[in-house]
Amino acid sequence: MSNAEQHDHKILGRELDLFVFSDLVGSGLPLFTPKGTIIRNLLDEYVWELRKNYGYERVEIPHITKKELYQKSGHWDKFKDELFRIKTREGHEFALKPMNCPHHTQIYARKPWSYREMPQRYANSTMCYRDEQTGELGGISRTRAFTQDDAHVFCRMTQTKEEFLKIWDIVHEFYKTFGFTLKTRLSLYDPKEAKKYLGDKDVWAVAEGILREIVEEKKADYFESIGEAAFYGPKLDFITKDSLGRDWQVATIQLDMNMPERFDLSCVSENGKPERIVMIHAAIMGSIERFMSVLIEHYAGAFPLWLSPVQVAVLPIGEGHQAYAREVMKKLVAEGIRAELEDSNETLGKRIREAETQKVPYIAVMGDKEVSLNTLAVRKRGAGDTGATSAEDFSQLIKKEIQSKLG
Ligand SMILES: [Zn+2]
Repeated sequence: MSNAEQHDHKILGRELDLFVFSDLVGSGLPLFTPKGTIIRNLLDEYVWELRKNYGYERVEIPHITKKELYQKSGHWDKFKDELFRIKTREGHEFALKPMNCPHHTQIYARKPWSYREMPQRYANSTMCYRDEQTGELGGISRTRAFTQDDAHVFCRMTQTKEEFLKIWDIVHEFYKTFGFTLKTRLSLYDPKEAKKYLGDKDVWAVAEGILREIVEEKKADYFESIGEAAFYGPKLDFITKDSLGRDWQVATIQLDMNMPERFDLSCVSENGKPERIVMIHAAIMGSIERFMSVLIEHYAGAFPLWLSPVQVAVLPIGEGHQAYAREVMKKLVAEGIRAELEDSNETLGKRIREAETQKVPYIAVMGDKEVSLNTLAVRKRGAGDTGATSAEDFSQLIKKEIQSKLG
């Protein structure tokens, strides 16, 4: 197998039993197995852990909407070819959501807000649907159903910079964990194609100015790219290199002064008058599926301990060691460690090779010696034998490693 094949997320996804496609469900619609779901949830929880420190609150929305919401947001025209449409039995037209922002505006719009209550920060990891053409689909990196780890900040114009900087910190903290360094693309409006964008060009100039100030102030490694803006506002896109040196676009922070205008979103300012607010779109992973494909290829399936679906393979050498192995298993699981008992009739060598193929970070072997001394013989992925240890010491050690998110 070539290097690229050894890293191919489609091949690894099958070999490591992370996700599957079914002809009956359809192409571009991945199904996640128990192991793949563990990884998705861990990534999502990590983003949430970082976000909640900055005052984000979770919200939840239905996956469909009336046509009117997208007519008002402008998405109906802009996305009409990519929308999955639904006709109700009463003849109304609905659509599956291709993004979450219009729904979130309606949560914000539920009541009047004082400037004192600003910003409002809504986080929502939820699936979106786009009718991509079959030829554009690829494994889980480009799909028809994907999960955005989405968030929208509703804030005053004067709070924009501060909110951007908070998201900036979350993005950098998150990607540092995987050893990714980020390059920033300042994605701008193309004056030659003014018709493509919503809103007037003075508003765009202000928005672009704020974003430029941020990258300058952060002394970021950045470049400007005309024509890469979203149709509703400029954005900061983050690009990283994986272990094979390939570029991937990952996180994005987008300023939006158009949608609040369209939905008439405001707060009451110090002088008692309504003040138009702005909206910030802030996905950290972007799409969980796509980010997972990047990680699978980056690590060639050998995930760090905290992300590994199986963290420890427990291998009794013979039948006489199975009761002891089950006891060890129980202790590890009670400590929150994902351990799996491999007690099939296969030879020990074969079971070790299988655990290695599955890229399990730790293999704990036990035979007569271990049973009599109440220990485990531990092998660490990439490091070989690490010697004998008690189940208690072993679980303390790897719990620390899990917590650090390193390794
Ligand atoms: Zn959005």
